[in-house]
Amino acid sequence: MNIKAPKGTKDILPSEVENWHFIENNAKEIFRKAGFKEIRTPIFEDTNLFERGVGDTTDIVNKEMYTFIKSDRSLTLRPENTAGVVRAYLEHNFFRESPPVKFWYKGPMFRYERPQAGRQRQFHQIGVEMFGVQDASADAECIMLAVEFLKSLGLNNLTVEINSLGCNECRKEYKEELKKSIAPFLDGLCEDCKSRYEKNPLRILDCKNEICNKLFEENNLKEKIAGIKLCPECSSHYEKLKMYLTALNIKYEENTFLVRGLDYYTKTVFEIKSNNLGSQNAVCGGGRYDGLVQTLGGEFTPAVGWAMGVERLNSLIPQREGEKLDYFIVSNNQLEAVKLTMLLRQKGYSAEFDYNSRKFSKQLEKASKIAKHAVILGEDELKNGYLTVKNLVTSEQEIKHLEDLI
Ligand code: ATP
Ligand code: MG
Repeated sequence: MNIKAPKGTKDILPSEVENWHFIENNAKEIFRKAGFKEIRTPIFEDTNLFERGVGDTTDIVNKEMYTFIKSDRSLTLRPENTAGVVRAYLEHNFFRESPPVKFWYKGPMFRYERPQAGRQRQFHQIGVEMFGVQDASADAECIMLAVEFLKSLGLNNLTVEINSLGCNECRKEYKEELKKSIAPFLDGLCEDCKSRYEKNPLRILDCKNEICNKLFEENNLKEKIAGIKLCPECSSHYEKLKMYLTALNIKYEENTFLVRGLDYYTKTVFEIKSNNLGSQNAVCGGGRYDGLVQTLGGEFTPAVGWAMGVERLNSLIPQREGEKLDYFIVSNNQLEAVKLTMLLRQKGYSAEFDYNSRKFSKQLEKASKIAKHAVILGEDELKNGYLTVKNLVTSEQEIKHLEDLI
């Protein structure tokens, strides 16, 4: 019986883990400098949290959640982490701190989706959330942080797309307008879009179904309807955001059809897309979610954040090599080899020896693969109390005494 990793999950092997460290270390450094504190919340939460927080008209809640019952309690593996962070923010009274309260997180998320390139069932996100600032400078700071982080990974060829979804008032009229334009070809759309039409028509624009996308094109949907008409407050917020981004030298494109898959967004939404990925090209998605803290039982608290898909980031970064060992001990005297190995480690070096006392040529072959130096401890060396140290990059050999080495 060959048990394999479940469909849509992947092992991250030692040969790949260097890239993950690189991504996570950059995140940690950049977020620390910007005053974001790391938060680690549970991988499962009350199902209710996501139903209320993510929204029960979203694909995530309707089709993609891993939900299970334990002791009559319905629990769900987190499909995203904003709801969990908001829950923790309320549970630990972070609202008493003077704003802004800024968090970042990393970890696995779970969505029952059709696995394909760039889409898994267990995947990882790195994200930030910022609470307590109404002004568009917070939106701009978040976008800037994402861009800075992506740059630190050596990624370019990225496009920042922004849009404003306004508030509920701004959206009311737009929803009707959208429904009117869609009505003539509604019958041809997928089942999801048909139900979105009644519950949340905006999200039809986020449909990934090819048939729907073809119908939008054939009916010139995107030419027919303009973007959301924003109320004075939402409009001024959006103008301010663009002003900040320009002042910060962040290039962006406006996409009036950018709607995002979650229900909680208000005003600003944005995505960062890579031009080097196939159809799953979004590496970062986020926006403002001023209503969510209240939805989850708190006072009205403006908030903004984003999440990035680490697998998608990783696929854009060349494979990084792990650092080689400082020393590999080549010897047929196991006792002396293990003693020297331990001593070197105590002195702060990384070191290994050959557990099988194989031929020196075999040991040296292994050493050159995994270490920077080989320390040869042969009969002659042991008898006369010296070491032969071979630099495995230049092949230079030197005779050394133990004291010189450490
Ligand atoms: P998509 O449009 O690609 O489905 P989304 O709108 O569902 O993305 P978000 O919920 O905003 O994505 O998550 C933020 C980021 O997490 C995405 O931009 C993407 O990089 C990554 N992501 C989302 N779902 C998956 C998945 N199933 N597998 C791998 N990465 C994912
Ligand atoms: Mg999705």
